[in-house]
Parts: sequence; structure tokens; C-alpha cells
Amino acid sequence: MTHVLVIGAGLAGLSAAIGCAKQGMQVTLCERALAFAPVGAGLTMSPSAQIGLRWLGVGDAFDAVAEPAETPVLLDWSTGAVLAAPAPAPHLAQVRRIARADLHAILLERYRSFGSAVLRLGCELAALKQDDGRISAVMADGDSLQADLLLGADGARSAVRAALFGDGEPAYTGFVAWRYVLPIEAAAPYLRGHGTSVTTGPDALLTCYTIARGTLVNCVAITRSADWAAEGWSEPGDPALLAAAFKGAHRDAQALAGLAPRDGLFRWGLFDRPVSPCWSKGRAVLLGDAAHPILPFMAYGAGLAIEDAVVLSRALAAFPLEQAFAAFERERAPRASTIHASSRAQARAFSQASSPEGAAPAPFFDTSLFTYDPTTVPLTEA
Ligand SMILES: Cc1cc2nc3c(=O)[nH]c(=O)nc-3n(C[C@H](O)[C@H](O)[C@H](O)COP(=O)(O)OP(=O)(O)OC[C@H]3O[C@@H](n4cnc5c(N)ncnc54)[C@H](O)[C@@H]3O)c2cc1C
Repeated sequence: MTHVLVIGAGLAGLSAAIGCAKQGMQVTLCERALAFAPVGAGLTMSPSAQIGLRWLGVGDAFDAVAEPAETPVLLDWSTGAVLAAPAPAPHLAQVRRIARADLHAILLERYRSFGSAVLRLGCELAALKQDDGRISAVMADGDSLQADLLLGADGARSAVRAALFGDGEPAYTGFVAWRYVLPIEAAAPYLRGHGTSVTTGPDALLTCYTIARGTLVNCVAITRSADWAAEGWSEPGDPALLAAAFKGAHRDAQALAGLAPRDGLFRWGLFDRPVSPCWSKGRAVLLGDAAHPILPFMAYGAGLAIEDAVVLSRALAAFPLEQAFAAFERERAPRASTIHASSRAQARAFSQASSPEGAAPAPFFDTSLFTYDPTTVPLTEA
């Protein structure tokens, strides 16, 4: 039986681990964290990602907790007046929202349902060795694990990508994303009845939408900051700094920013790096943010990670290793590159907005991307 080592148990790694287990492979999933923390707040899931989730066998569990995404309403930065409410697009009606922690828990339960599935927590990849026959993952604690192939799903600062290609570090973009969740009772007086709203100004953006069957409001803010001093990508945020960024905004945006809880506010430095020019080497392949970290302006990174996992699992079941990796990259690289470029364009538009009147476009979905079906796209051997 083919033994697959998956590095990283985020959404890409878990989805790929399920996909490979579903195809009858023996999977060992290695995650450096000692436990899974409920990070990430809400996620918007495209129809294409949902098709992938059904293929992975978690469609019903997803449907039970996900909820429809209302058409976002754009609010004027200074007055809060409605600037635009885009007409509902047919595909937008199929977009769903879910708390990342819920989706992660659903995928974890599905992975654990495979009798042969192995999950190793506190297992951090430090180095890779490979020859013609096997690949060895050397872990930070000195342990060494062998497998027939290795999937690098270890995020935007991927150790697998560094070991395979050594193509540098992501660069800080000057943007910081903030995420927090509010009880609906606290947020409702400031939502003006909008299920989903986006307030965009010259230096800050606030998106709010309901999750958890309308009981919670997910808030994502993006602000500017000249540098990112923290060692990691995310850290607890200072509510006073967030509130300061919305000082000139309309009263309700100020209030929503001011409600961010000290113990539930996280901020992410937004780092950018190109799509990997090559996704595989020998017996190892990259997927998810490890291959193509996407700025969050299109809300598509997790969706791409799930699509990757489905296409890669299908390719591995259909072809010998080298051809499978080539078929996977051939199919996925153009789509990931398109979305990567669009997200960068949105980031540029945001950074070029210099007045409230010239406010940046809101992070709306490009619905032309929705018709992709990772379970049926043709995979070609050459
Ligand atoms: C503010 C914000 C909002 C977003 N909103 C959306 C949205 O609405 N919709 C959407 O689709 N996407 C969204 N995204 C993007 C999405 O969160 C990511 O693209 C997605 O989670 C990437 O998944 P991943 O599994 O590839 O990487 P990660 O989630 O980074 O997972 C990588 C895993 O690998 C582990 N790991 C790292 N290094 C090692 C190692 N050396 N050894 C072992 N394990 C390791 C990590 O601990 C982690 O568990 C958003 C992102 C941000 C920052």
C-alpha cells in the first residue's frame, strides 16, 4: 500500500489526507502544533470548494453548520450610507460561510474515521531527504519518518517549500488583518439590519457578517501598518489600535471596531510571495498556501486549498507518481495563479485609495471562478 506523509494539518493538509485515505492510501499526517486552537474566525466557501468537500465525504456535516452568504452591502466610510448593493448573482447564492474551527473539526472527524489514519501532533518537519525509492522527513525532535511520497501542506512559510526550492521568504505587504467575533446581541444595534456589510475607507476596511446560525457576527478588518514587528504571522491584537484605525469612519463602524474583545482579537501581518514556480521535486509536492499563499482580498485561499487536495488525490489515484504530480500542477497552477494575481490587484487597489471618496473596492467574489469542479476537471498525463 502506498504510504503518504502529509506535513501540516490545516485545511489543505487535512483535506489531502482524507482524499488519499479515501483512495486507499496509508496516510500519516504530521502537525507541529501540540493541539488545534480555534483560530481563523469565519471563512467564505465558494461553490467549487463545497463540491470538493462533498467529494471528501463531509458535505452533510458542512451543510449542517454552514450558512448562506448574503449579498454584501457597501457602506460609505464617513456616513455609513449604502453605496452599492450588488445584484444577487446566481452563483453567489451558493456561497456559504462557516467558522474555520467548525470546518477544521469536521475534516478532522472525517480523517479520524479512516481506521488506518495516523495523526501526529507536535511533529514539526525540519528537513527532507529523498532518493529514488523513498522520502524521509526529519522532524525537529530528531525523529525520522519514511514514506513513498510527501505532501507539503505546511502553509505560507512552508518548510517543505524551503527544503525543496529554497526560494526565499514571503514579504510583508504593509497590511494587517484583524479578526474577531461578536455575539449578535452586542453587534446588532450597529449592523443597520445588514447581514453582510463592507465599510471601505482610505486606510481601513471592515467586513461584518453573521455566522453560527445568526448568533455570532464575524468581523474582519484590514488596516495599514508600516511594519510587522511580531515574530510570527499572527498575534493577539490591541483593541485600542484597531479602534484608532476607524476613528474617521461612520459611527456604527467605530462602534463595531470598538467592541473587539481583548481576549478574542487576533491580528495577522499579511505577507505575500509568488506562486511557487514549480510544485514538486522527486517524491514531494506542495499544495495550499505552501504552493500559492493568497492575500485574503478574494477570500479564496482555503477554497483553493480544498480544490488542490481533491485534484491531487485524484491524480495520485490515476497515475504513477511523477505523472500524477505533473498532472496536478498542470491543472492547478493556472487557476491558483489567476486568483493569486486578482488578490494582489485588490490589495493594490486598496493601497492606492487615498481618500474616502476614492475608497478601495470591497473584497467581493469574482463569480466567474465559481463554475470550477475539482472532482471532474480532466487530468492529463502529459
Ligand atoms: C484574514 C484572513 C481571512 C481569510 N478569509 C478567507 C475566506 O473567507 N475564505 C477562504 O477560502 N480563505 C480565506 N483566507 C485564507 C485561508 O485562511 C488560507 O488560505 C488557508 O487556511 C490555507 O490553508 P493551508 O492548510 O494551506 O495553510 P495553513 O492554514 O497555514 O496550515 C498549515 C499547517 O501546517 C502546520 N505547519 C507549518 N509548518 C509546519 C512544519 N514545519 N511541520 C509540521 N507542521 C507545520 C501549521 O501549524 C498549520 O497547521 C483568509 C486568510 C486570512 C489571513
